[in-house]
Amino acid sequence: MTTQLAISVRGMTKRFGDTLALDNFSIEVPIGSIFGLLGTNGAGKTTAFKCMLGLARADSGTTEFEGAPLTPALFERLTYVPERPELYGDLRLSDHLELTRRSYKRYDASRAAHLISLFSLDPKKRVGKLSKGQQSAVALTLALATRPEFLVLDEPASGLDPVNQRNVLDLLIGEAAGGATIVFSSHQIGQVERAADRVAIIHRGIKVLDGEVDRLKADEKVVEATFDDDAPSVNGLASDASVRRIVRAGRLLRAFVRGDSTSVANRISALRPKSLRVLDQNLEDIFLNAVAAGDGESVARATALEG
Ligand code: ATP
Repeated sequence: MTTQLAISVRGMTKRFGDTLALDNFSIEVPIGSIFGLLGTNGAGKTTAFKCMLGLARADSGTTEFEGAPLTPALFERLTYVPERPELYGDLRLSDHLELTRRSYKRYDASRAAHLISLFSLDPKKRVGKLSKGQQSAVALTLALATRPEFLVLDEPASGLDPVNQRNVLDLLIGEAAGGATIVFSSHQIGQVERAADRVAIIHRGIKVLDGEVDRLKADEKVVEATFDDDAPSVNGLASDASVRRIVRAGRLLRAFVRGDSTSVANRISALRPKSLRVLDQNLEDIFLNAVAAGDGESVARATALEG
């Protein structure tokens, strides 16, 4: 059975002068999916969103929504919340809501009221007088009040307190459960891990990894050992095909192992570490490894270090 795609981006490339902001970037987002876009600063996430939505002109590549190019009519069903929300500072939240109501047939007043209460916003206040976090909450309120089917959110929880960050995550999970498709970026990897079912990791304009979060996490284990003194090198460990990466930092040795980690754990155990644990890989490990691999810090280099 083929999964129906809500969004597909193929071969998108975008240059700004000498900067290759996005290099042959492709993703596929199934309907009802929460897709997290992770990347270092300046990796190209915002550029990807803008090119997907036609807000910046890609040099090459295509984006399709439900198998067809973006049309103005689709904006009725789509919402984009940029990293820095563009709001009219002199208008009150109630004015913004009225503007949104007039612009979107799908505007849902009871939904808006629920979101205002959830984020503890005062509709009478001028938006320019609100804090950065409150302005982010306003942008999300306006976006979600239109009951969108496609949500593209650039760091939606940035500037929000932990309570509201959790509120946003719960909202996104709820929207996806109702059939909406969400693509969002965040530097809060824990949030992405909690909410997203799929991720793509982008580094210096290049997608270095993508896939289902559960599958990526299951792919590798982390064998983590501490020693009384500096962590020793383990003969031949780096040339073991199952070892993806080795990190030695002072007394700590960490080996990222694909598949069965038993033999690697046994070899490290033979060096009599103070402690040894085999952990599931989390999304932060996956991100750091993908970025390191993108930088060319591969097993080959670890081999050289290990001797
Ligand atoms: P961050 O996490 O810091 O928000 P990002 O992943 O969203 O970063 P982008 O804003 O997409 O990154 O930027 C990608 C690259 O393109 C950067 O090198 C940036 O300097 C460059 N860039 C983005 N917009 C422009 C522009 N309008 N003109 C020139 N260069 C730009």
